Amino acid sequence: MTDRFETLAVHVGADPDPATGAVVPAIQMSATFKQDGVGQTRDGFEYGRTDNPTRRALESAIAALEGATHGIAYASGLAATQNVLYLLEPGDRLVVSDDVYGGTWRLADKVWRRYGIQTDAVDLRDLDAVAAALAGARMIWIETPTNPLLKVIDISAVARVAATSGALTVVDSTFATPYLTRPLELGADLVLHSATKYLGGHSDVIGGLIATRNEELAATLRFHQNAAGAVPSPFDCWLVLRGLRTLAIRMERGCTNAAVVANWLERRSGVARVHWPGFSDHPQRDLVKRQMRLPGAIVSFELAADEAAARRFVAATRLFTLAESLGAVESLIELPAAMTHLSVAESALSVPPGLIRLSVGIEAADDLISDLEQAFAAAGVAEA
Ligand code: PLP
Repeated sequence: MTDRFETLAVHVGADPDPATGAVVPAIQMSATFKQDGVGQTRDGFEYGRTDNPTRRALESAIAALEGATHGIAYASGLAATQNVLYLLEPGDRLVVSDDVYGGTWRLADKVWRRYGIQTDAVDLRDLDAVAAALAGARMIWIETPTNPLLKVIDISAVARVAATSGALTVVDSTFATPYLTRPLELGADLVLHSATKYLGGHSDVIGGLIATRNEELAATLRFHQNAAGAVPSPFDCWLVLRGLRTLAIRMERGCTNAAVVANWLERRSGVARVHWPGFSDHPQRDLVKRQMRLPGAIVSFELAADEAAARRFVAATRLFTLAESLGAVESLIELPAAMTHLSVAESALSVPPGLIRLSVGIEAADDLISDLEQAFAAAGVAEA
C-alpha cells in the first residue's frame, strides 16, 4: 500500500467488506465458526478464542504499524506481558529497567519469582551495567521513555548488548507508540503495548498488543495466546482499531501541547523539577532526536513544596482529571507514588512521593495552562 504511517494507520485492516461494501470492519461477535467438513474451516476461523476476524484485523494493523510480520492481541497490556514471560523457563533471569511500570515489576517479582524466574532492575542508560546484568540473563525488558521519570533508553545500543549475550530484547513501547519510535527497526525482538493507552486513545478500552518479525517467537506467543486464553473481545479489538485511525494526529497534538505545558512549568515559580524528553538541554537530547519522532506527551514534575501540596494540587485541577492511566484525548493528572506506582512503594523502584505525572491530551493548550495556573492557587502552592 504505502509505508507512510498516517496512511497505513487509516487504511490497514480496513478493506471494504466484499459482500456489503461496508467501509468499517464488522464487529464479528461469533464465538464459533461453521466448518464445511471436519477441519474444513473458512479462512482458518474455528473458535473465537483461537482466532476472530475483528481481532485479526487489529493484529494485522499493529504488525503493519510496527513494521512487523506478526501482531498478537491480548485482553490487557499486562496479559501481553504475562504472555511474554511465558517464553521464560524456571531458572531464567530477566533484566528490567529500574523505573519499569509498577504492574510489570509486580508481575515479575511477585508472581514469576514463585516459578523460579529472577528479575533484576538496572538503570538501562548505563550500558556497562546492562552488559554486567545481562551475563547469563535470558531477556531484557526496556521501557522508553520510562514511567514516570521519562528517562530515554537507547534501544539499538541495549539490543546490541543483549544480542551479544544471547538475550531477547523486549520493548514496552506504550509511551512512544509506533508513531514516535519503531523498536523492531532498532533491533528489538518483540514490541509490546498497553493498547489501553494511546493506541485505543479514548479511555474506553483495556487491551494489549505484541508485534514481532521473529517467526519462532510469534508461533510460541500464538500458542500461548490460545492455550492461556487472555484474548480481547471483538468489540474491544474494534475500539482499538478505530483508535489507531487517528493515532498520528492525536500524537502530534498531544506532543505539541506537552511542549507548551513542560516549558510553562519549567518557568513557573514553585516548581522544583520538570521531566520531559523534549527540553533542549535534556542530557539525552541526541538520542531523543534519533529515536523519537517527537518527545512524547507525558510530563512529570515536582513542586518546590511538600507532598501534601502535591496531593492538594492533583485534586485541584478541573480539565486535568485525577485518574490513573494515560494516552487518551483528555488530559489526566496523578500522583504515581500513591496511585500507579503504589505496587513498587518501598522497593528499589519507588518514585519520589511528591512527583506529579501529567498525560497531556488534545485540548486547547491555553486552557490546559489556565487549569494548571488555577490549581497552583487552589492548592495554596506559594510563589517561590
Ligand atoms: N505498560 C505500561 C508502560 C503501562 O503504563 C501499563 C498500564 O498503565 C501497562 C503496561 C499495563 O497495561 P494494562 O493496564 O492495559 O494492563
